[in-house]
Amino acid sequence: MTTIFEPHCLVCKKPIAFGELICDNCKENLYSPSLSNGAFKVYHYGKYEYPLSNLIKEFKYHSHPKIARLLGNMLAKFFIDLKFPELNYTVSYVPSNFSSVHEKGFVPAHLIAQYFSDILGFPLINLFSSKTLKRQVQLDYKKRNENVKNKIKLIQDPPKNIIIIDDVYTTGASMNEVGNLLIKKCDVLIGITVAKAYRYSFNKSL
Ligand SMILES: [Zn+2]
Repeated sequence: MTTIFEPHCLVCKKPIAFGELICDNCKENLYSPSLSNGAFKVYHYGKYEYPLSNLIKEFKYHSHPKIARLLGNMLAKFFIDLKFPELNYTVSYVPSNFSSVHEKGFVPAHLIAQYFSDILGFPLINLFSSKTLKRQVQLDYKKRNENVKNKIKLIQDPPKNIIIIDDVYTTGASMNEVGNLLIKKCDVLIGITVAKAYRYSFNKSL
């Protein structure tokens, strides 16, 4: 017998225990780490494909705070497992462009970074303002780079050891722009994203 109160996995819809968001099977399949070496090292928890892409879409469309907490938790554990040197880190995030913020009413990377920094006990600051005019998702690789070039600005002096959080790393344009602004001004710069999107799994509907 099913009732409307029975919780289901947000990804595969199987019944799950109360208090859970996704089933153990989906949870295990979210993790598929990789590393991008652009302006600095950016670590990706998983790939932007099923089931992680479904979870991220659910989060973005419904601004579900419980998913932000889950993603923040996942990234915090990931950070600990990567065994970075023990330093006084400050957490910040890649700014969303204005239209995306207006459409969704929230900045996904900010929300994930908030949970991430709370769990690890690191301060969270906003380092950037963004003047990006077009949503990145509508642009190809070259246009994405042009779109972010010189449009992200530092709004305060950066701390020495910084972790930058983003939700999805696609071309790396925003992350690299942020990296270029910081790399000469800080000692340690680490990028962490929930997912890395690959060219052919890139989903325009996000
Ligand atoms: Zn599931």
